[in-house]
Amino acid sequence: MKITKNVNKKKTKEADWIFLHPYVYVSIKQNHAILYNTLNGELLEYQGNNPVLKLIRRLNAETGLYVTKLYKQQYDKNIERFINQIRKHYMGDCLNTSLRPNTPFQMKPMLNLQKTLDFLITDQSSSRILVNDEIQDYLEVITLHINSRCNQTCTQCDSAYKQYFCCKKNNENPHEIEFDAIEKLTEEIKNSSLRKIRITGGNLLFYTELQKLIRHLDQIPVIKEFLINYLNIEDKPWFFEFLSKELSQLIIIIHFPIKIRKLESCLKILSQYHLKMFLLIVIEDDAQIKKIEDILTRLNIESFDFVPHYNGENLSFFKNSIFLTRQSIIATKPSMKNIFARKTINTGDFQKLTVLSNGDIYANLNHPKIGKLNSTSVFDIIFQELHRGKSWTKVRTRIKPCKSCAFNGLCPPISNYEYVLGKYNLCNIM
Ligand code: SF4
Ligand code: SF4
Repeated sequence: MKITKNVNKKKTKEADWIFLHPYVYVSIKQNHAILYNTLNGELLEYQGNNPVLKLIRRLNAETGLYVTKLYKQQYDKNIERFINQIRKHYMGDCLNTSLRPNTPFQMKPMLNLQKTLDFLITDQSSSRILVNDEIQDYLEVITLHINSRCNQTCTQCDSAYKQYFCCKKNNENPHEIEFDAIEKLTEEIKNSSLRKIRITGGNLLFYTELQKLIRHLDQIPVIKEFLINYLNIEDKPWFFEFLSKELSQLIIIIHFPIKIRKLESCLKILSQYHLKMFLLIVIEDDAQIKKIEDILTRLNIESFDFVPHYNGENLSFFKNSIFLTRQSIIATKPSMKNIFARKTINTGDFQKLTVLSNGDIYANLNHPKIGKLNSTSVFDIIFQELHRGKSWTKVRTRIKPCKSCAFNGLCPPISNYEYVLGKYNLCNIM
C-alpha cells in the first residue's frame, strides 16, 4: 500500500518541458489552431476543443514564451501524436524537467515594427514633428496616368484600372498632368525612398510633352515602367530608344478580342529595339487561356504573364483559378517578417500612390482620393494615409470574416479584386 502511494507521487511529479522553436508562427481562432514553420513552409493544423488545442493555447500564451510544463499523467494518445508531429516537422520538442529544472529560455516571436510606423498607426494625437524625418521613407512607387485620351474601345476600360495596373481613358472630359506639375512632384520626392515611377495614360503616346517628360525622367535614377496597350503601339524610335536604357521597362497589355495582325505588327516594331519588355495578358475565362496559348505558340512568345479580369459574370472562373487554397497560401512561404508586416499594413498598397490625369491622388483606386496634385504636399498626404487612411493600413486581422480566421497572418494582403467583388475571403477556407 505504502509502495503504490510513492510510485503515484513520483509519477505525478514527473514532467516535460514542451516547447516550440522561435521561428514557428502560431495562430489560434476559436477552436482552430495552426502552427507554421517559417523556415521550411510546413503547416500543422488542429481543430476542436481538446487537450491538444489547450496545450497549444498554453504554449502561445503571452507570458509562456512558447514553453509549458506538461505532467506525465496529462499525456494521452493525441498529445503524444502532437509532440511527435512538432518534432518531425522541426517545430518544437520536449525535454524532461529532471534534465532542466528551470524553464528553458525561448524567444517567442513578437511584433517589432519600426517605431514611427507603429506610432503613426496607433496614436492619433501624436505630433507631426516627431515623424518628419522618417515620412520620406514611406514612398516607394508612384503611378502617373499622364493623360486620359485614347482612341481604342476596350470593354474593360472602366473597370480594369481598379483591378490591376492598366491604362484608363476619358475622352469626354480629357485631362493631362501638366509637365510642370510632374517636374514639381519629382523635385518634392527626390529625397524619398522612391524606387519606381510607373507611367501610363490613356494612350501615353498622345501626351503633349512626351519628349520633354522622357528627358526629365532620364535624369531620375529610379526604375521607369511604361504601360501601353498593344493596340496603341506605333513606331516612335526616340521613345523606344529611351526605353532601351538600363532603368526603363515596357509593359504591353493585351486583352480579348485579340487582333492578331495588330499584335504581330506591334511585336515587329518592338523587336527592332533592345527593350526590357513584359507582356501582360488579360484573361476572363478558361476559353481565353486556351486561345491565347495557341496564339503565343504561333507567335513564338515565351515571356508573358496572365492577369485575371473580373467582368461581373465570371465569378466561377475566379473561384477555380484565383481563390486561395491552403496550398497556394503556403506555397508563397511567408517569412515571420512578412507575417507581422501583413498583420499591420497592407503590403500590396503600402508606400504606393497613384495620380490620375486630373491630378487626383489615391492610395488605392478603389478608395476615395486622398489629395490633389499641386495643392497638397505629397508627404502631408502620406502622413494622413498612415494616420487615418483607408488603404495602407487595411489588413485581414481587422476585417470580417478574415479576422476570425487562423490563416489571416499567412494570407496575401487584401487585393483590388476583393474590393471590386466586395468580398474579403476569396478563398476556399472560410
Ligand atoms: S487602350 Fe487602355 S485607355 Fe484605351 S480604351 Fe483600352 S483600356 Fe482604355
Ligand atoms: S482570405 Fe480570409 S478567410 Fe480566407 S483564408 Fe485568408 S484570412 Fe482566412
